[in-house]
Amino acid sequence: MITDSQLNLQVYVTTSAEETQEVARNIARSIDRGCIIALTGDLGAGKTTFSKGLISELCVYEPQHIQSPTFIYLNTYPSNRGLVCHFDLYRLGDACAFEDLGFCDYLDGDHICLIEWPEIIESLLPKQTIRVNLSYISESQRRIEIERMI
Ligand code: ADP
Ligand code: MG
Repeated sequence: MITDSQLNLQVYVTTSAEETQEVARNIARSIDRGCIIALTGDLGAGKTTFSKGLISELCVYEPQHIQSPTFIYLNTYPSNRGLVCHFDLYRLGDACAFEDLGFCDYLDGDHICLIEWPEIIESLLPKQTIRVNLSYISESQRRIEIERMI
């Protein structure tokens, strides 16, 4: 059983995409090789926006040069904390498809993984996975909940 004292929950309300990216950049500064981040939330909630902030901090890319891997499932970016793997599993069928594509290798603790639509591979995610949930409040406002083991 996980008790409250083992979980750290941070909640933010942002009022622009840039502010969401700034929250993500702060998270990027606190993570290391092997970290897995599961991003949940509806379409348009800001998962890709958050990912752009995090990747731009880790990999020194401009956010506008970071694209969602919507149709190819995975983009990778080199960083000095290992390869950063950005997954979008929205169109992927199930965990078997994830395994068949050889993606499990990326969860081996050597890479940083950001996973949009992680629900289908829930059973493959380690318990230390950082959980980020984004929800829509208004056109420019989002609520971001970040839950991590301490
Ligand atoms: P998802 O990947 O969850 O489907 P995206 O990040 O692709 O969502 O899209 C979010 C959209 O909402 C972007 O067009 C972004 O500019 C806009 N947006 C407006 N306000 C915010 C905010 N506070 N945080 C994140 N995105 C926002
Ligand atoms: Mg997306």
